This record gives sequence, C-alpha cells and structure tokens, in this order.
Amino acid sequence: MKPVDIGALVDALDKVIVVVEPEPFRVLIVDDVEVQAKVNAMHLARADIHARMLTNPLAIVQTLEEFLPDLLLLDLYMPECTGLELAQVIRQIKTFVSLPIVYLSAETDREKQLVAVGLGGDDFLTKPIKPEHLISAVTSRIKRYREMRSLMLCDSLTGLYNHTSIRERLGQELARAARNKQPLALAMIDLDHFKKVNDTYGHATGDRVLKALTHLFTRRLRQSDVIGRYGGEEFTLILPNTTGDVALQVVDELREAFSQVLHSCEGQSFCLTFSCGVATFPKQPSLATLSEAADQAMYSAKRQGRNQVVLAE
Ligand code: GH3
Ligand code: MG
Ligand code: MG
Repeated sequence: MKPVDIGALVDALDKVIVVVEPEPFRVLIVDDVEVQAKVNAMHLARADIHARMLTNPLAIVQTLEEFLPDLLLLDLYMPECTGLELAQVIRQIKTFVSLPIVYLSAETDREKQLVAVGLGGDDFLTKPIKPEHLISAVTSRIKRYREMRSLMLCDSLTGLYNHTSIRERLGQELARAARNKQPLALAMIDLDHFKKVNDTYGHATGDRVLKALTHLFTRRLRQSDVIGRYGGEEFTLILPNTTGDVALQVVDELREAFSQVLHSCEGQSFCLTFSCGVATFPKQPSLATLSEAADQAMYSAKRQGRNQVVLAE
C-alpha cells in the first residue's frame, strides 16, 4: 500500500524473487558390506538425496568433517567396530552432537535396538527396508534437523551465521586450508558511525541497513565464501583459497559498492560506509592469531579515517 516503505518492499520482493535453491540432503551410509550400502544409496538418489558410502568405519571423523552430512545411516555390526561405538565417538564431537543417527541393521531383538538408540542413536530401522520407508524416514528427520540447525546457527535478523557458528566455521575452514595447503583470508567488517544512524533515523532503519549490507555480501561473494554476523554491526567474511591481495581487492569492491547505496527513511536519504581489516593464513597460522590480526587491521582502518580496507602486516 502507498506510500511505500522501501525496506518492507525489498523484503516482500526478496521473498518472491530470490529463489534460493535448497542444498540437496546429504546422507552418509556406513556399512561394511558395500553392496548393501550401494543399494540404499541408489534408493536415496532416486529421491534426490546425495548419499556417500563409507565401508571403513575408522575413517568416520574425517568423512563427517568433509561431507557434513544431514544424517548418518549406521550399520550395527561391522568388523572394525560396532555402530554403537561409532555413535558414542561421534557424540563427543561438538559439531555432530545433534546429527541424526539412524541405525539400519538386521538386528530384530527389540532390547538390543533400544540399547542402540539409548547410546547416541535416534532411530532404528530394520533390514531389509522398503525404499519408500527408508526415504520417508530419512527425509522427515533431515527436514527437522535443518530447521533446528538454522535456528541454532543463524542470526535471526540477517539469516547469516551467528557469532558462535561463524567461529566454528572459521575453525573448520582453517583446518581444511591447512590440509589442502591453500591460503585463506579473514575479513572483519565494522560499520562506520552506525550509532548515529540509529540515533537519527531509529532502530528499524538501522536494522534495514544491516539487511542491505547482508544482501550485498550474499549477492557479490562466491558460494564457497562464508559470511557471518559477528556482533551488532560487525560482520565476518571467510574467503577460502584466497590470498591477501585478492581478498583486499574483493572487499574493497564491496566497500565501494556499499558506500554508494542510498538508504532512505521517511523521505530523507543517507549513505554509510564500513571499515575492514583483512588477515591471512598461513601468515597467521592459528585461529587466535588470525582473528587478532584481522581485528587489529580493522582498528587501524578506523584510526586512519574509516571507509577503508587494511591488510594486516
Ligand atoms: P565506529 O565507526 O567507531 O564503529 O562507530 P559506531 O557508532 O559504529 O560504533 P559503536 O560501537 O559506538 O556503536 C555501534 C552501534 O550499533 C550501537 C548500537 O546501537 C548499534 N547496533 C548494534 N546492534 C544493532 C542491531 O541489531 N540493530 C540496530 N539497528 N543497531 C544495532
Ligand atoms: Mg562495533
Ligand atoms: Mg561501528
């Protein structure tokens, strides 16, 4: 209805226009008998579920970290270790505490099934299972898991990763960079004089600015880049496989683009800028030194007059 509230209009259009392709569900099947795992993977694939097979349960941790499944389909009896032991190990890793674990086994003894579920599992399916039962059991659990994770991991205003989860992602991305011997860049961004926006135009307008910046980031960055809201008006960008020089250029383009966005509130309009510090791995070898260096570079950018990107020494 006119007169149009631009922020509300953008939100409404976004819902219609930005069709985010949902990532396909990912299921990790652990079974020492490859043929069985293959059959189940095939059934799941027909429902557009990505299934990966693992026949060596001892490689579970690395596979989980690489594949990041939405659900684990676990055989109960394997030569190297049992599904129960595996579930107990997985539950000790913080990232996978809430990962749905469904046992798929020929075990029909109800007592034993209950013990399995009691020890870190979520459900028990018995082999042989009809494909449509498997698909529906897996799909409903993954849907709920994804909804729950999104509540846990994402900031409610922007939908970006929240403080806790962006730090966790940084740890994961750093480990991956070290493993693949690739560089990584971390950018810490802080809006300039943001308090003045709230004071002048109100909190709701401030919120809209935060959302506008979020749009810019999500549209301009690569799929593999990770974006988080670190605090109130502070954002974190993780740029995997990116050197300092490239990161500097990418973030500076974002800075330039954002500085030209005209924000408006009840007929008045204004522009806003941000300051940014960039630090890189492997120059900064640990999560602690990397964050600290990016923070310090961001403060330098503020001290040097704001609206600029500084690469850590
Ligand atoms: P500087 O250039 O030094 O960073 O100045 P600044 O005003 O941006 O920094 P300061 O840390 O003094 O103020 C940050 C402000 O961000 C204060 C707070 O009102 C605002 N803020 C934090 N979270 C939110 C939010 O979720 N919504 C809105 N609208 N404002 C927020
Ligand atoms: Mg701040
Ligand atoms: Mg600020």
